Parts: sequence; C-alpha cells; structure tokens
Amino acid sequence: MAARSTFHAGLALDAHKQQACGTPIVELPPPTQVVLALDQGTGYSAEPVVTVGEAVAVGTLVARTDHPSASAVHAPLAGIVVAIETREAAVQGGRSVCIVIDGDGSDRIDDSVRPVADPAALSPEELVQRLRDAGIAGLGGAGFPTATKLASARNLGAHTLVLNGAECEPWICCDDALMRSAADDIVLGALILRRAAGTVRCVIAIEDDKPAAIAAVTRAIERLRDDALTLAVVPAVYPQGAERQLITAVAGVEVPSGGLPADAGVVCQNVATAAAVARWATRGEPMLSRLVTVTGSGVAHPCNVRAPIGTPLAALIAASGGYRGKPLRLIAGGSMTGRALPSDEVGLTKAMNCVLVATRDDIGSRLGAVELPCIRCGDCADACPVGLLPQQLLRAALADAHDTLRQLGVRDCIDCGLCDYVCPSQIPLAHRFRDARRRLHEAEAMARKAADARERHDLRKRRLQAAATAEQQTFESVRDRARRPGDDSTGDTN
Ligand code: SF4
Ligand code: SF4
Repeated sequence: MAARSTFHAGLALDAHKQQACGTPIVELPPPTQVVLALDQGTGYSAEPVVTVGEAVAVGTLVARTDHPSASAVHAPLAGIVVAIETREAAVQGGRSVCIVIDGDGSDRIDDSVRPVADPAALSPEELVQRLRDAGIAGLGGAGFPTATKLASARNLGAHTLVLNGAECEPWICCDDALMRSAADDIVLGALILRRAAGTVRCVIAIEDDKPAAIAAVTRAIERLRDDALTLAVVPAVYPQGAERQLITAVAGVEVPSGGLPADAGVVCQNVATAAAVARWATRGEPMLSRLVTVTGSGVAHPCNVRAPIGTPLAALIAASGGYRGKPLRLIAGGSMTGRALPSDEVGLTKAMNCVLVATRDDIGSRLGAVELPCIRCGDCADACPVGLLPQQLLRAALADAHDTLRQLGVRDCIDCGLCDYVCPSQIPLAHRFRDARRRLHEAEAMARKAADARERHDLRKRRLQAAATAEQQTFESVRDRARRPGDDSTGDTN
C-alpha cells in the first residue's frame, strides 16, 4: 500500500453517502423501453446505423462513430427500434438525438457478443480498437471514450496507469459499492488497460473513508501477485478524485497547464471503467449497463442500481422506492459538479454516475440566494485546489477580458465548485467561469475563422498577382520578339 499523499487546498465535505452505500446493489431487470442518447455525455454524438422498425438483439451496434470524443452505442435489450428523434436527454444543452427501443421480452443476444478468448494475445493496438468498437467509455462522470485516452497514452509514452477509485464527490457511492463487490473484475480490467496503454505500472487509488473497498481491492491485488499493480490510499478531501489532483497525489507529478495527463507520463481511468473492460473480456459484452447511485432526500430508499444504459430515470427512481416528500430538482452527478436534468424521462447515460433527487434540505441553501458584491475575503483562493484566483477571474469574466482570463488560467479551472461553496457573497463563480470558457472558446474559434479567411484572401491575391505578372511577361516577350529586326518570328516573309 503506497504512502498517503495530498494536494493543494480542498475541503472535507459532508459525504451523505451512508444510506445508499449501506444498501445492497439492486439489479434492475430489463426495462420495457430504453432511450439511448447518441451523445453519451461528452457533447459529441455517434451516428445511427439502424432504422425505425429494425429488430435488434442485446449487444447489437446501433450507432457508430469515428469521432475521438464520441463512443459507439449498443442495444442493451432485444426488441424493435421505434423512434430515432431528438429528445430531452441527460446531456449539455438538455437535448440529443436518441434511439428508442421497445423490448420484446426475449433475451436474444447479438452474434457479435462473444467472450475474448485471451486478451493478452491481442496486441495493444488491437485491444484499443476492440475497446473502441465496444463503446467503452469513462464511467467516472465524464463519459470520454476510453480508447482515445489509451491511444494518447501510448503515443506520449505514459508509464503509469492510475485507476481512480477516490469518488470524492458528496452523495455518489457507486464506485465504492463496485469495489466492495467486484474487486477481482477491477483488477482484471486494470491489467488489460495497463497493457493497452503501454504503461509499466498501475496504481489503484482509493480514499481512506472507504475501508471495506480498500480491504476488498487489497485482497484482489494480493491474489494476483503482480508487483506492478499497487494500491494507494489517499485522504478523503474534496476534490481528491479530480483527475489532475489525483495524479499529483498518487504519482507526485503535475499535469502541465493546458496539457494532458499523458504529458506527465500518466493516464487515468475510473475503477468502474476497468470493471466494464473485464465484462467485455469475460463476456464479450460491449458497454450495455452501469452501476449508478440513486440518492437524495427526495427518494425513498437510496441505493446503487445496476441498470441498462438508456433506462428512463423514472424506472431507476421506482427501483429505489419512488419519490419521497417534495423533490426540488433532479441532478445528474453529485451536489458539487452535478447538472440539473430536464425530467425523469431521460435515459441513463454512460457518463451518469448518480441521480440525485434533491430536496431543499439537500441543496436549498443556495437556491434563490441573493448574490452580493465580492468582499475580497480571499476564501475562494484559499479553497481552490488548482491554486487559481477566483476573485480576479470573476472580474475578468464579467469584463469578458479574454487575455486576462487566459493569463489567470481559466482553462485550468476543473469546475469543482469549491469557490462557490465557500463564497460568503453567494456568487456562482464556477458557473461564471464555465460561461467565460465557452465565450473564450467561441471568440478563439471566430478569430481562427477570420485568420483562415484572411489567409485564403491573401493567397488568392498572390495567385492573381502571379497570373497577372506571368501574362505581362508573356506579352512583353512576344512584343520584344516582334520588334527585333530580321527575326523570322515577326512573320516578315519579304
Ligand atoms: S471551480 Fe475552478 S476556480 Fe473554483 S475552486 Fe474549483 S478549480 Fe478553483
Ligand atoms: S469568496 Fe466570494 S466574496 Fe470572498 S473573495 Fe472570493 S468571490 Fe469575493
């Protein structure tokens, strides 16, 4: 077990995990209908390869993609495609094209679903491609395609794979439940990911407030006897599970500003992603389901539920005893970084690790709070785990001062929400920075477009200039020859 380590700032928050964590995992039977968003939470969509009326089996590919930030989507139940249309979805912007499948009650499995005989016999490149085909995506909350990260780690020569089992955000405990119940799967997945990423070692990182998970993973590692697979216990401090903060804590290196973890020699994957890789290897299963925490004071029996991707959230809430009291808001994710959901009709996505059915008691203190002027207390800077200066960032964001925003490192903000949490003036700082990053991105895209247009214009001008010069030279040479006395080319035949 590695020594404890930590990172700059952060806070110990009320975890709110006990109730869901102390309950056995609920295995949800296949729902009657799934709603599969083609954007699985990254902002990029796969393209449908099925049509309305087509029959599908469990594991049939229904949407494919070559985009590095999108993942393939597979049918998690056998049935008929009944709609392909834009609907409300648990994604940025609240809408995505969705494939809707009505189940036929059978458990027909697609012919493509076959266990991988020997993953170690596949080359790392083949492994990466097979994981891409299987639609394996990060289950820690981002939904980013695993294959893209692995390929980048190989290209940049990363040496360490960090498996993230820190799960630091309040309310969420599905990784904890998974580590306690499927530690051997996580360890098998770690070996496959380590091979695919080309790293020499793998460290599984778990926060010290999860003793049962630490014990289960320790036993699984001991059974394996692989010196290049170790466990690191890290302090339970928010946001310990943020990728860059965890890498600093576990590997002792800083990811450079604007760079990738692989630039620091590290690639990070979630423990649940490793377990999904093991399911792919042992059952041939593409990414069809995930474990999700359904919790909050607005649900009767908070618990962790394994459910097919695309399951309407209403079915997840029903499996957790249904609504209780007066829920105020449905949130995908935890109370710090989660996003409000449009309704409980949206389908579960790969990126969704928690459905927080929040009442006013859970999140109410800031709802409707009156924003007051900044009193320059500096609490936000003290809390920021990245070492940013939120108070100065706020001024730059309000003034849309793009150069200052860049200089102050707005892009290094990890959206953890700690500055909001501590701000006595109730200023929604993280939200302001998110908006500022979007506007900065748009302004830079516009500037790039304008520069491209200018370059095309200059090129055309140079081309026309060159053509005019060539024409002039031809004219002059013909004219000169015509003037030369005794030259046959004058056409003078005498
Ligand atoms: S949201 Fe950004 S600025 Fe605020 S504390 Fe987190 S990293 Fe720092
Ligand atoms: S915590 Fe709020 S009030 Fe204090 S300096 Fe930061 S923005 Fe201003």
